[in-house]
Amino acid sequence: MIGTDRYAADREALIRQIEAQFRETARYTALPELDERVREALRSVPRHLFVPAHERDVAYADVPLPIGRGQTISQPYIVALMSSLLDITPGDRVLEIGTGCGYQAAVLAALGAEVYSLEIIAELAERSARLLAELDYDEVTVAHGDGHAGWPEHAPYQGIVVTAAAPEPPPALLEQLAAGGRLVIPVGPRAGGQMLRCIRRRADGGYSERDVLPVAFVPFTRDRDQPGPACA
Ligand code: SAH
Repeated sequence: MIGTDRYAADREALIRQIEAQFRETARYTALPELDERVREALRSVPRHLFVPAHERDVAYADVPLPIGRGQTISQPYIVALMSSLLDITPGDRVLEIGTGCGYQAAVLAALGAEVYSLEIIAELAERSARLLAELDYDEVTVAHGDGHAGWPEHAPYQGIVVTAAAPEPPPALLEQLAAGGRLVIPVGPRAGGQMLRCIRRRADGGYSERDVLPVAFVPFTRDRDQPGPACA
């Protein structure tokens, strides 16, 4: 049903653009092509339902969009890149920090992951939990909380993705990675100079890391519930 909605052509055009972006950024990312499974996941998720109603017609532009409360829904190419770096196998347990409106969580679920997602702004957590349930993403569990401590109850995770930039990867997230698991996180200052980093936990318990691409994310915050307009 989703594949034939009125946005299906926009979604296809977006996928073409993301494929072009993968080619253009290959010298940084070492990923010259959009993974087939990630492409199918992007094709299956109705992004227009995750953006505020007045932004539906630009939902498939390859740009981040404001969702209220000073937050954004990430650029689709970045969602595709982070999803590819996680290298998900169906059935993997994945922790997301920064649910926002839930789009990345839906893409991870479409890849077959069992997703646990934490959002520090209560209103966004409630809204995305409701939307994901309405759309039958039963594999996603959203909770309101500060991601600095991770979510130990469901650890270890085969993948952890952080969708806000931290000065350094929080130690709790490194600890909650399974052997062979990957943490994908933008690292760097609040404004400018951030790098998307991919950290892999080796079988011996140590970590290998690679800086993948310069990026610009909203900050990983500890301030709860600043006043502001709501999303959707
Ligand atoms: N994953 C979203 C992107 C949301 S933007 C997508 O699919 O587009 C990043 C989100 O991280 C914001 O909603 C912000 O409120 C949240 N965030 C920032 N710091 C956080 C923290 N310490 N714990 C949990 N969420 C946090």
